[in-house]
Amino acid sequence: MIAAPKFPPFNPPRRILMGPGPSDVYPEVLAAQSKPTVGHLDPLFVGMMDELKALIQYAFQTENEVTVAVSAPGSAGMETCFVNLVEPGDKVVVCRNGVFGERMRQNVERCGGEVAMVDNEWGEPVDLAEVEVALHANPDAKFLAFVHAETSTGALSDAKGLCALARAHNCLTIVDAVTSLGGVELRVDEWGIDAIYSGSQKCLSCVPGLSPVSFSPAAVEKIKARKTPVQSWFLDQTLVMGYWNGDGKRSYHHTAPVNALYALHESLRLLANEGLENAWARHSEMHELLKAGLEKLGLEFVVEEASRLPQLNAVYIPNGVDDGAVRKQLLEQYNLEIGAGLGALAGKAWRIGLMGFGARRENIALCLRALEDVLN
Ligand code: PLP
Repeated sequence: MIAAPKFPPFNPPRRILMGPGPSDVYPEVLAAQSKPTVGHLDPLFVGMMDELKALIQYAFQTENEVTVAVSAPGSAGMETCFVNLVEPGDKVVVCRNGVFGERMRQNVERCGGEVAMVDNEWGEPVDLAEVEVALHANPDAKFLAFVHAETSTGALSDAKGLCALARAHNCLTIVDAVTSLGGVELRVDEWGIDAIYSGSQKCLSCVPGLSPVSFSPAAVEKIKARKTPVQSWFLDQTLVMGYWNGDGKRSYHHTAPVNALYALHESLRLLANEGLENAWARHSEMHELLKAGLEKLGLEFVVEEASRLPQLNAVYIPNGVDDGAVRKQLLEQYNLEIGAGLGALAGKAWRIGLMGFGARRENIALCLRALEDVLN
């Protein structure tokens, strides 16, 4: 026998989460998650799932019938889009201006697809002119894939313009909206996005571990016309659709994460009550406030103002400052988490998140006061 380990219950402190995610979770969402668990085929739960679908459709601004929450984090949403759409030999133009564009490339390769890369510097948005050149040079491309809000740098790309280019070249679009959903303007139907995924833990301020996704009718047609079965059983949308289709005949696919879905329902309900446009405006207003304070402290932004994300503020670490020591002090003295740099920006930048419930005045005041204290 292996001896039973004996531990006290885990009691996390209440941190202020101002990194790249997870963000501060709404108290109402934490409360929703601790409600009694019901069966995932219970008629009351099924009714909640119908509401949840309508709430995800609202957040994405889409009427797409195939709109679900994948029972796994944003990376699984990304994988859901790629494994369902990309068949061996399909060519995909992938835009890479940070960590998550690179992850898209790896997804395409693992699906047996062919990749044509469009690279932009870290901190820059995707360049539409370069994408147009790539689409001309690859007339056989079937998809254009890009990250709307690059969390590794804080750069916002022109999703509307990129979708228009893709359409002009008969490509379907696969869009990463993990950090953009709820924080900046995003209109799936109006902009003609074909496949999109997000995450629960950023501007939705829900608990981590769920990924809203949506497929346009054209994307669904492509999935239905596949010559080979989707290689992932769990992420195969043709199987999952049976659970989410809302025609009253829900069948078992996997055991839904019941309480996490209560949490997502509550966070999206709060977003709908606030109103998407109000939420976008709040993120922008809070960003202006934080920006003014950071600039006063002499911190410089990684991204040019025109393409800066309000919800992810990447600033260079001043010369001679110990990155790890500062973040440790913020955590220990102020219970405040800010993000380290990722990839090419590791050790060079901090990423300060203003996401969802975290995008509020008290957080900004605390963050600026703490940084001023620690840096001086
Ligand atoms: N895409 C982007 C832009 C992200 O920021 C993240 C996570 O930070 C992901 C994908 C992956 O999401 P997750 O960590 O929930 O798997």
